[in-house]
Amino acid sequence: MDNFAAILVLCGAFIFVLSLKPVNQLMRSLPPGSCRVAWKFLSCLIAMFFVGYLIYAYLFYGKINHWGDMVVPAIFFFGAVFVLTVCTLSAKTATGILRICHLEHENITDPLMNIYNRRHLDRCLVEEASKAKRYGIDLSVMMIDVDHFKRVNDTYGHSVGDQVLQSLAQLIKGNIRDFDLVFRFGGEEIVVLLPYTNANGALILANRLRNWVSERRLIELEDDKKDITISIGVSCYCHKHEKVTDMLERADEALYQAKNNGRNRVEVSQAPSATA
Ligand code: GH3
Ligand code: MG
Ligand code: MG
Repeated sequence: MDNFAAILVLCGAFIFVLSLKPVNQLMRSLPPGSCRVAWKFLSCLIAMFFVGYLIYAYLFYGKINHWGDMVVPAIFFFGAVFVLTVCTLSAKTATGILRICHLEHENITDPLMNIYNRRHLDRCLVEEASKAKRYGIDLSVMMIDVDHFKRVNDTYGHSVGDQVLQSLAQLIKGNIRDFDLVFRFGGEEIVVLLPYTNANGALILANRLRNWVSERRLIELEDDKKDITISIGVSCYCHKHEKVTDMLERADEALYQAKNNGRNRVEVSQAPSATA
């Protein structure tokens, strides 16, 4: 009976050691922070339990005389099995959640520019429009297009063209507020949704971006022959008189106007009137 009790307790101690593996795996997948510290604390507790089991086995070896004395070793054993099961399940659950987050991120992100894609734009437009309507807040949009981008590709090659697009996306992301949203609309066109911003605020931001780009802040090209510039169409959501998709169409029309008026410029679409 003594041997059996000792085996149960030692197996329990061994199972505790096994539990450290999923705990470490889980800690590696967590970002630094209080949750990671909590799992670190748990791994210290597991180590302490391991030592405690060994001390118990040493102290009580030869003192187990009745079946009733087996209760504690049995509880020790199943306690360790419980801890291993919880740690393994937690690690597997965390891996599953991370995979889903990764898929969700891929599903809404453009891989080249590392900004949201068109699919996510459709969703966000509806959400932001309903917030703007409910709380009566401003909502504006900028539609950005690289001027003569085909020429950039033809002159410097597609990989330089790709770098220009990446650099443009970075520039935009680095100069907007946290709650502004940037999307690749298609090709070399980028849409920026600006909640809490009226047409005037959007115009100021659009001109600032346009200036930065024309001052050659995107990438250094081999020669100085061509500057990369962008044109921007701006519109503001008028929720009383239009659907949110109309706002996007008006920004597109303003962009078209900016192209026709000579490029490297910003045009603002007038809000529709009540009678329109
Ligand atoms: P405009 O000033 O009127 O906008 O002229 P544009 O040359 O920029 O317009 P156009 O629509 O004729 O050309 C867009 C070009 O963008 C053509 C296409 O090959 C290029 N393009 C679209 N997507 C990508 C991409 O992901 N990478 C690269 N390198 N080029 C792209
Ligand atoms: Mg273009
Ligand atoms: Mg275009």
